[in-house]
Amino acid sequence: MPPTVDIFPDKVLPNNIYDVLNEALEQRKKESLYRSLRVNDDFASDFASDKLIDFCSNDYLSFARSEKIKQKVRAFFQKEFYANGSTGSRCISGNTLLAENLEQQIAAFHNAEAALLFNSGYDANVGLFSCVAGENDTIISDELIHASVIDGCRLSRATRYKFLHNDIANLEEQLKRARGNIFIAVESVYSMDGDMAPINDIIELSEKYNANVIVDEAHATGVFGVQGRGLVNAAGLEDRIFARVHTFGKALGCHGATVIGSQVLRDYLINFARSFIFTTALPAHSLLAIKCAYEQLTEGDFDNTALHSLIGFFRKNFRVCDGITLIDSVSPVQSIIIPGSERVGRIAELLKQRGFDVYAVRSPSVPAGKERLRISIHLHNTNEQVNELIQAIDTLMDTGDGV
Ligand code: PLP
Repeated sequence: MPPTVDIFPDKVLPNNIYDVLNEALEQRKKESLYRSLRVNDDFASDFASDKLIDFCSNDYLSFARSEKIKQKVRAFFQKEFYANGSTGSRCISGNTLLAENLEQQIAAFHNAEAALLFNSGYDANVGLFSCVAGENDTIISDELIHASVIDGCRLSRATRYKFLHNDIANLEEQLKRARGNIFIAVESVYSMDGDMAPINDIIELSEKYNANVIVDEAHATGVFGVQGRGLVNAAGLEDRIFARVHTFGKALGCHGATVIGSQVLRDYLINFARSFIFTTALPAHSLLAIKCAYEQLTEGDFDNTALHSLIGFFRKNFRVCDGITLIDSVSPVQSIIIPGSERVGRIAELLKQRGFDVYAVRSPSVPAGKERLRISIHLHNTNEQVNELIQAIDTLMDTGDGV
């Protein structure tokens, strides 16, 4: 008879810890900010039978559901002997030729000297920012920068200044008071607003103040630039940027991320980026998925113009009315501002009941008053679906259900 183990550690932990946790959770519920997980069975199995129409995933190019990529990954996996897991950190037993070759392919694709893989975009930003800047340095980031950059900045112990979103004059004010090595952090396409950073102006200014620019291309990868190389490529600025972060979990439909830049930067990250060093490397299956997704971009028939047409169709037909606004964006991220966490949550729920998978973003993920429906547009959406979504939002507003 196995010994009984008391898994509810009332006896070990101070009794009031659950009261503290519950109180925080109750507070979230009161503020309509409570998060709970839902199971997306459709995603796990058969995309073709989606019960809800996908207007919320980041699978902009539909690569996550691509049969062609799936079969290619499977074929690679079967052809060679690949272990189930990578067995350790890249610094110990987890480095492979597959990873090294993939990094070289990625670096060449993005016209950079070197690339280093990370297990996620979150890890890439945390690892990069926490180690390139130190306590005597300054990181200046756009006020809408992703949480992973903020966390990386905190770990670096550098001074952090925010500048007003996309405001070049305000960026210059921060540059004037910056000390030590200076870094400017922006997203080329902002994850919540879908708009773009004025990259040309930022680079001009950075050169005046000898600052290093880091661009997070998470939502531009696969969407902008030649064959989806990103917005820095589209602007022809590749050789004037200190580091770029490309993530694979959005348009590339898989998982992981890369930091690209110089060979020195790669060597430095291998030595100092803790989220690279102290974690098990991506397994072969993930690396093969990334490899095949990149190959899909470079193949002759790759074309994302249909995605851009659909985005244009959405914008042309969306009807702005009292109390809601559509943020200016030509990217797949189309955000409709509907102030109030309770209201935006209720509208998202009503849209779900009508068959649309939409995501309500509430504060503190976005500033209070800027709560929104974050609609994302994909190659697997059709004009008809987009039209139906627009009509459904219209009806909610007209009947007062969305008020
Ligand atoms: N950077 C930006 C701008 C993002 O939107 C995200 C995703 O939420 C990340 C980084 C993190 O990427 P990942 O999901 O691969 O961790």
